[in-house]
Amino acid sequence: MPNIPQCDPRANYLAHKAEIDQAIKRALESGRYILGSELSGFETEFAAYVGVGYAIGVGNGTDALHLALRAGGIGPGDFVVTVSNTAVATVSAIESAGATPVLIDIDADSFTMDPARLEETLQRLPPNRAKAIVPVHLYGHPAKLPELEPIARAHGLKIIEDCAQSHGAMIGRNKTGTFGDLATFSFYPTKNLSAIGDGGMVVTNNPELAEEVRLLREYGWRERYISSTWGTNSRLDELQAAILRVKLKYLDQANQRRQAIAATYNGALNQTSLRLPRVAAGLTHVYHQYVIQSPKRDALKRHLAENGIGTLIHYPVPIHQQPAYAERLADNGPLEITEATTAEILSLPIFPELTDAQVENVCETILNWAGG
Ligand SMILES: *Cc1c(COP(=O)(O)O)cnc(C)c1O
Repeated sequence: MPNIPQCDPRANYLAHKAEIDQAIKRALESGRYILGSELSGFETEFAAYVGVGYAIGVGNGTDALHLALRAGGIGPGDFVVTVSNTAVATVSAIESAGATPVLIDIDADSFTMDPARLEETLQRLPPNRAKAIVPVHLYGHPAKLPELEPIARAHGLKIIEDCAQSHGAMIGRNKTGTFGDLATFSFYPTKNLSAIGDGGMVVTNNPELAEEVRLLREYGWRERYISSTWGTNSRLDELQAAILRVKLKYLDQANQRRQAIAATYNGALNQTSLRLPRVAAGLTHVYHQYVIQSPKRDALKRHLAENGIGTLIHYPVPIHQQPAYAERLADNGPLEITEATTAEILSLPIFPELTDAQVENVCETILNWAGG
């Protein structure tokens, strides 16, 4: 029986082992482990990759969102509109900034924030209380920024993109992360660009916002040991930055491999009754996840597990139904599409080191079950 994991961070290390080991050695021997030349080098390289003016490395993707919100002036009393089918980090960060999350429904094709619902919600909320939106580019598929942006701007809202799953994804010729006032990335070990530990980044084109994030990540220090504003400790360390500099060079190649795997899945499964991922024209999907839908999802998941194939559900319970949030965030209006899709979604194995034979095996195992 095969043993095909849903994701495999170790395989990604082994694929670049010699270079990563060398980078780790360089960082170790430098004697500087926090805010040194590896981080400043990576920040410059990552900003150039995304196509923005500034990148500020922080401890993880959750902190990236929290600090971006604070830098954007979001705080107590403010509403921040996002979605319920996301990593809990998105909503946790909004509350860490002191603001109140407002969770709205998604569009069924892209699994991302529905612009019509955003407009409705902004009409419904008390005037001038909503201060920002956090669209999530879920699964590596860009959110509908061209439609969301004019709505947010008309209401005077800041836009903070959650790019934790969308490194390299594009709308037209522009990468996700270039549309918002600020955008945030995670380098958690399973993400398209991954550290060997925690890591995150805030990007922006605005020099004042960049400076504000730099202050927030280190106690508000302009000068060492003197806090000029409130700040915390959230810095991307030198070891992780050195590793990420190696992996950044292979990000496009890794995304192309994910796209090739997705194309194989599409070709093999399009005769079945499974609902496959859809990508609108002009968008570049980077397949952080390849998510199919079936009313018989649980049976399919079981069948795959019995045949040695790992799958996951991203996410099994939407935020507004989780114990920590259910009571407090009850007044969000209907989230029907979110709830209906949650019951049907299944994330198939997808990572750059997955072999063609393994992909074929997944396809055959699904076709046997589906009678395709
Ligand atoms: C992973 C993730 C985060 C949080 O990133 P961490 O580095 O794990 O803190 C935030 N938002 C989304 C959509 C994510 O997938």
